[in-house]
Amino acid sequence: MTDPRRHIPRTDTLLAEPRLAKAAQQLGTDLVKEVISAAQQCARRGDIAPAEVAERALAMLPPTASSLRSVLNATGVVVHTNLGRAPLSAAALDAVHAAGGSTDVEFDLAQGRRAARGSGALAALARAVPDAADVHVVNNNAAALLLCALGLARGREIVISRGELVEIGDGFRIPDLLEGTGARLREVGATNRTTVADYAEALGPDTAFVLKVHPSNFRVTGFTAQVPITRLAALDAPVVADIGSGLLRPDPLLPDEPDATTALREGAALVTASGDKLLGGPQAGLLLGDAALVSRLRGHPCARALRVDKLTLAALEATLRGPAPPVRAALEADAGALRGRAEELSSALRRRGVDAHAVHSVAAVGGGGAPGVELPSAAVSVPAEHAARLRRGQPPVVGRVEKGRCLLDLRTVDPDDDERLLEAVSACMS
Ligand SMILES: *Cc1c(COP(=O)(O)O)cnc(C)c1O
Repeated sequence: MTDPRRHIPRTDTLLAEPRLAKAAQQLGTDLVKEVISAAQQCARRGDIAPAEVAERALAMLPPTASSLRSVLNATGVVVHTNLGRAPLSAAALDAVHAAGGSTDVEFDLAQGRRAARGSGALAALARAVPDAADVHVVNNNAAALLLCALGLARGREIVISRGELVEIGDGFRIPDLLEGTGARLREVGATNRTTVADYAEALGPDTAFVLKVHPSNFRVTGFTAQVPITRLAALDAPVVADIGSGLLRPDPLLPDEPDATTALREGAALVTASGDKLLGGPQAGLLLGDAALVSRLRGHPCARALRVDKLTLAALEATLRGPAPPVRAALEADAGALRGRAEELSSALRRRGVDAHAVHSVAAVGGGGAPGVELPSAAVSVPAEHAARLRRGQPPVVGRVEKGRCLLDLRTVDPDDDERLLEAVSACMS
């Protein structure tokens, strides 16, 4: 008897198989070769027969040439940093697609000469916040803060409350970021209480600006005091307000969340914010406010190192001008409608033999803002031991394990994805 492993098809034979050849055109030969080699390994181990190698390779092909996978966010955390924060709207995705090739990002097609970069996105942002005399966009909010410190405070002091020395996440801290620019931090007040007198005493000829940082991912309660922007603006130094989440106007659903328009009206000279939190757009840092300050920052030599890509500009403009993005839809979804979807999905799953039922759930905005805000929601509850298989499924589904059950929270799932969710759950349960 010959060893069946000797019949494992060779790589070049497999690459000639029409469907694998087509995949090589779409994904690149190297990637397809990797997958073929993994399928051949399965055959060598005896997991599959040599005749099954091609089918196995086809089943293992990734959907795109990037290893980033499209995931169903059923965590109930609207702005989930580990899942890429805000999902883009269809309009923003179309804009990214169109801008992906050669594009007039820095070119005036009518005149045939160079033009200001990304003027469409900047105009859309300026229109969305009429209280800002000028606007600029950089890589993210951390970059916006970095640029403020580099451009306005090198060798000088930034006055900041001890209650606002915030860690953004993953070990990155705003105070370290600012000090890295050569600015000095002048910390005032205590962790729980800072008064206007604390700020006033610290101001002097070395003061570059007062920085107000929104505690976007934690809450301090009890014996506390912070100074509102209005009071800080009456002092003798410009106020830079890092509002975090990127709300441009007040949001009745999130009454405690700061927004750019209000911060500017209260007297902030500059506002910085993220593009991919509650604004619902791409990763970006928004800088809004005083025309002379914005123009100084835009012209700083380091601004070039923080500038955004054409894909970001395209997605940001489409988010600002187009239909409301998924983050909005997730925040505004009606709890009754979520319950209806949970009931429907659960019965469909039960009909397929899955132990599933609809339950009440509590969703959250996430690290991106509104700490402590609880959004009433509904979830499909399945056995907790399925959580890992759901994550490894196609598409991967990420839920939340609570009290021995895996909850698939529908507030963060687009209703158009319910069918995909149903198929993904049934596929990995059977
Ligand atoms: C999220 C956040 C940041 C960091 O923003 P990135 O866009 O991730 O760089 C900074 N400050 C505050 C208050 C935040 O909420």
